[in-house]
Amino acid sequence: MRYIIATHNAHKLTELARILQPLGIEAVTDRDLGISLPEVEETGTTFAENAYLKATSASAVTGLPAIADDSGLTVDALDGAPGIYSARYAGPNGTDKECNDKLLAALKDVPTEQRTAQFVCAVCCVFPDGSEPITAEGTVHGRIGYEERGTNGFGYDPLFYVGNKTTAEMTAAEKDAISHRGQALRTFQKLLQNRLGGN
Ligand code: IMP
Repeated sequence: MRYIIATHNAHKLTELARILQPLGIEAVTDRDLGISLPEVEETGTTFAENAYLKATSASAVTGLPAIADDSGLTVDALDGAPGIYSARYAGPNGTDKECNDKLLAALKDVPTEQRTAQFVCAVCCVFPDGSEPITAEGTVHGRIGYEERGTNGFGYDPLFYVGNKTTAEMTAAEKDAISHRGQALRTFQKLLQNRLGGN
Protein backbone atom coordinates (compact mmCIF):
# COMPACT_ATOMS: atom_id res chain seq x y z
CA MET A 1 0.00 0.00 0.00
CA ARG A 2 1.24 3.46 -0.84
CA TYR A 3 1.21 6.13 1.83
CA ILE A 4 1.69 9.80 1.13
CA ILE A 5 4.11 11.58 3.41
CA ALA A 6 2.64 15.01 4.04
CA THR A 7 5.64 17.25 4.49
CA HIS A 8 7.46 19.92 2.51
CA ASN A 9 10.48 19.63 4.82
CA ALA A 10 13.12 17.65 2.90
CA HIS A 11 15.01 16.75 6.10
CA LYS A 12 11.91 15.38 7.80
CA LEU A 13 11.01 13.47 4.66
CA THR A 14 14.42 11.80 4.65
CA GLU A 15 14.07 10.80 8.30
CA LEU A 16 10.46 9.62 7.94
CA ALA A 17 11.15 7.58 4.79
CA ARG A 18 14.29 6.07 6.39
CA ILE A 19 12.39 4.97 9.50
CA LEU A 20 9.25 3.80 7.61
CA GLN A 21 11.13 1.72 5.05
CA PRO A 22 11.48 -1.39 7.26
CA LEU A 23 7.70 -1.34 7.79
CA GLY A 24 7.18 -2.23 4.14
CA ILE A 25 5.43 1.07 3.59
CA GLU A 26 5.87 2.57 0.15
CA ALA A 27 6.27 6.22 1.06
CA VAL A 28 5.49 8.64 -1.74
CA THR A 29 5.53 12.41 -1.80
CA ASP A 30 3.32 14.88 -3.59
CA ARG A 31 6.16 15.37 -6.06
CA ASP A 32 6.20 11.61 -6.82
CA LEU A 33 2.49 11.94 -7.63
CA GLY A 34 3.06 15.00 -9.81
CA ILE A 35 1.01 17.25 -7.56
CA SER A 36 1.71 19.88 -4.95
CA LEU A 37 0.01 19.51 -1.57
CA PRO A 38 -1.56 22.74 -0.34
CA GLU A 39 0.05 24.45 2.67
CA VAL A 40 -1.99 23.66 5.75
CA GLU A 41 -2.59 26.34 8.34
CA GLU A 42 -1.31 24.87 11.61
CA THR A 43 -4.12 26.10 13.82
CA GLY A 44 -3.88 23.29 16.38
CA THR A 45 -2.72 23.92 19.92
CA THR A 46 -0.73 20.68 20.18
CA PHE A 47 1.74 18.78 17.99
CA ALA A 48 -0.82 15.98 17.63
CA GLU A 49 -3.57 18.34 16.45
CA ASN A 50 -1.30 19.89 13.84
CA ALA A 51 -0.12 16.48 12.59
CA TYR A 52 -3.78 15.46 12.25
CA LEU A 53 -4.62 18.62 10.27
CA LYS A 54 -1.73 18.02 7.84
CA ALA A 55 -2.52 14.30 7.38
CA THR A 56 -6.25 14.96 6.89
CA SER A 57 -5.59 17.49 4.17
CA ALA A 58 -3.11 15.24 2.33
CA SER A 59 -5.40 12.22 2.46
CA ALA A 60 -8.37 14.26 1.20
CA VAL A 61 -6.32 15.61 -1.73
CA THR A 62 -4.74 12.28 -2.76
CA GLY A 63 -7.21 9.59 -1.67
CA LEU A 64 -4.25 7.76 -0.04
CA PRO A 65 -3.49 7.06 3.60
CA ALA A 66 -1.43 10.06 4.68
CA ILE A 67 1.27 10.29 7.32
CA ALA A 68 2.21 13.67 8.76
CA ASP A 69 4.66 14.67 11.47
CA ASP A 70 4.46 17.76 13.60
CA SER A 71 7.41 18.33 15.84
CA GLY A 72 9.40 20.91 17.68
CA LEU A 73 11.58 21.90 20.57
CA THR A 74 10.26 22.78 24.02
CA VAL A 75 12.70 24.61 26.28
CA ASP A 76 11.92 24.49 30.00
CA ALA A 77 13.53 27.86 30.85
CA LEU A 78 11.34 29.47 28.17
CA ASP A 79 8.10 27.94 29.49
CA GLY A 80 8.00 25.44 26.63
CA ALA A 81 8.81 27.86 23.79
CA PRO A 82 9.29 27.67 20.86
CA GLY A 83 7.08 24.54 21.02
CA ILE A 84 4.55 24.26 18.19
CA TYR A 85 6.03 27.48 16.77
CA SER A 86 9.55 25.98 16.41
CA ALA A 87 9.65 26.28 12.61
CA ARG A 88 8.59 29.95 12.78
CA TYR A 89 10.58 31.00 15.87
CA ALA A 90 12.62 33.52 13.84
CA GLY A 91 9.66 34.64 11.72
CA PRO A 92 7.84 33.02 8.80
CA ASN A 93 10.95 33.03 6.57
CA GLY A 94 13.55 32.61 9.32
CA THR A 95 16.40 30.17 8.64
CA ASP A 96 17.54 27.39 10.97
CA LYS A 97 20.59 29.54 11.80
CA GLU A 98 18.38 32.50 12.74
CA CYS A 99 16.22 30.26 14.96
CA ASN A 100 19.32 28.89 16.67
CA ASP A 101 20.79 32.37 17.18
CA LYS A 102 17.50 33.59 18.66
CA LEU A 103 17.40 30.59 21.01
CA LEU A 104 20.98 31.15 22.18
CA ALA A 105 20.21 34.83 22.83
CA ALA A 106 17.07 33.92 24.82
CA LEU A 107 19.15 31.53 26.97
CA LYS A 108 22.14 33.87 27.32
CA ASP A 109 21.92 34.12 31.12
CA VAL A 110 20.53 30.65 31.77
CA PRO A 111 22.98 28.30 33.52
CA THR A 112 23.73 24.80 32.26
CA GLU A 113 21.52 22.93 34.74
CA GLN A 114 18.50 25.00 33.68
CA ARG A 115 19.02 24.56 29.93
CA THR A 116 16.90 21.41 29.78
CA ALA A 117 14.73 20.88 26.71
CA GLN A 118 12.80 18.26 24.78
CA PHE A 119 12.28 17.44 21.14
CA VAL A 120 8.68 16.27 20.72
CA CYS A 121 7.16 14.58 17.69
CA ALA A 122 3.60 13.57 16.89
CA VAL A 123 3.00 11.31 13.91
CA CYS A 124 -0.52 10.93 12.59
CA CYS A 125 -1.89 8.67 9.86
CA VAL A 126 -5.29 9.42 8.37
CA PHE A 127 -7.05 6.81 6.19
CA PRO A 128 -9.21 7.64 3.18
CA ASP A 129 -11.93 5.16 4.26
CA GLY A 130 -12.60 7.30 7.34
CA SER A 131 -11.33 4.69 9.81
CA GLU A 132 -9.92 5.93 13.10
CA PRO A 133 -6.65 7.86 12.60
CA ILE A 134 -3.50 6.50 14.25
CA THR A 135 -1.45 8.92 16.33
CA ALA A 136 1.85 8.23 18.08
CA GLU A 137 4.15 10.55 20.00
CA GLY A 138 7.78 10.54 21.00
CA THR A 139 9.91 12.74 23.24
CA VAL A 140 13.66 12.95 23.72
CA HIS A 141 15.08 14.86 26.68
CA GLY A 142 18.25 16.86 26.31
CA ARG A 143 19.86 20.20 27.01
CA ILE A 144 20.67 23.29 24.96
CA GLY A 145 24.37 24.05 24.44
CA TYR A 146 26.14 27.38 24.09
CA GLU A 147 27.16 27.21 20.42
CA GLU A 148 26.32 25.16 17.36
CA ARG A 149 28.10 21.79 17.17
CA GLY A 150 27.89 19.28 14.32
CA THR A 151 26.66 19.41 10.76
CA ASN A 152 24.29 16.43 10.49
CA GLY A 153 20.54 16.72 10.92
CA PHE A 154 18.68 20.01 10.68
CA GLY A 155 16.87 22.68 12.66
CA TYR A 156 17.91 22.86 16.31
CA ASP A 157 20.06 19.70 16.12
CA PRO A 158 23.39 21.58 16.45
CA LEU A 159 22.28 22.97 19.84
CA PHE A 160 20.54 19.92 21.30
CA TYR A 161 22.71 17.71 23.51
CA VAL A 162 21.81 14.18 24.50
CA GLY A 163 24.71 13.05 26.66
CA ASN A 164 27.92 14.61 25.39
CA LYS A 165 26.92 14.92 21.71
CA THR A 166 24.46 17.12 19.89
CA THR A 167 21.99 15.39 17.62
CA ALA A 168 23.86 17.10 14.75
CA GLU A 169 27.02 15.22 15.79
CA MET A 170 25.22 11.87 15.68
CA THR A 171 25.05 9.55 12.70
CA ALA A 172 21.62 9.01 11.17
CA ALA A 173 21.33 5.64 12.94
CA GLU A 174 22.37 7.12 16.30
CA LYS A 175 19.80 9.91 16.00
CA ASP A 176 16.99 7.57 14.87
CA ALA A 177 17.67 5.26 17.83
CA ILE A 178 16.99 8.00 20.40
CA SER A 179 15.08 10.71 18.59
CA HIS A 180 11.53 11.90 19.18
CA ARG A 181 10.74 11.01 15.55
CA GLY A 182 12.31 7.55 15.84
CA GLN A 183 10.35 6.84 19.03
CA ALA A 184 7.07 8.12 17.58
CA LEU A 185 7.51 6.06 14.42
CA ARG A 186 8.38 2.88 16.30
CA THR A 187 5.17 3.27 18.34
CA PHE A 188 3.34 4.12 15.12
CA GLN A 189 4.70 0.92 13.54
CA LYS A 190 3.20 -1.22 16.32
CA LEU A 191 -0.16 0.56 16.13
CA LEU A 192 -0.26 0.23 12.34
CA GLN A 193 0.67 -3.46 12.48
CA ASN A 194 -2.17 -4.04 14.97
CA ARG A 195 -4.53 -2.17 12.67
CA LEU A 196 -3.47 -4.19 9.63
CA GLY A 197 -3.91 -7.44 11.52
CA GLY A 198 -0.38 -8.08 12.63
CA ASN A 199 1.05 -8.45 9.13
P1 IMP B 1 6.90 21.62 11.76
O1 IMP B 1 6.66 20.29 12.41
O2 IMP B 1 6.99 21.52 10.27
O3 IMP B 1 5.96 22.66 12.24
O4 IMP B 1 8.37 22.13 12.15
C1 IMP B 1 9.09 21.57 13.17
C2 IMP B 1 10.34 22.41 13.47
O5 IMP B 1 10.86 21.94 14.71
C3 IMP B 1 11.44 22.25 12.45
O6 IMP B 1 11.43 23.23 11.47
C4 IMP B 1 12.70 22.36 13.31
O7 IMP B 1 13.01 23.69 13.54
C5 IMP B 1 12.24 21.75 14.63
N1 IMP B 1 12.54 20.31 14.67
C6 IMP B 1 11.66 19.28 14.61
N2 IMP B 1 12.29 18.09 14.63
C7 IMP B 1 13.60 18.38 14.69
C8 IMP B 1 14.77 17.55 14.71
O8 IMP B 1 14.76 16.32 14.62
N3 IMP B 1 15.93 18.23 14.78
C9 IMP B 1 16.03 19.58 14.83
N4 IMP B 1 14.99 20.39 14.79
C10 IMP B 1 13.76 19.79 14.73
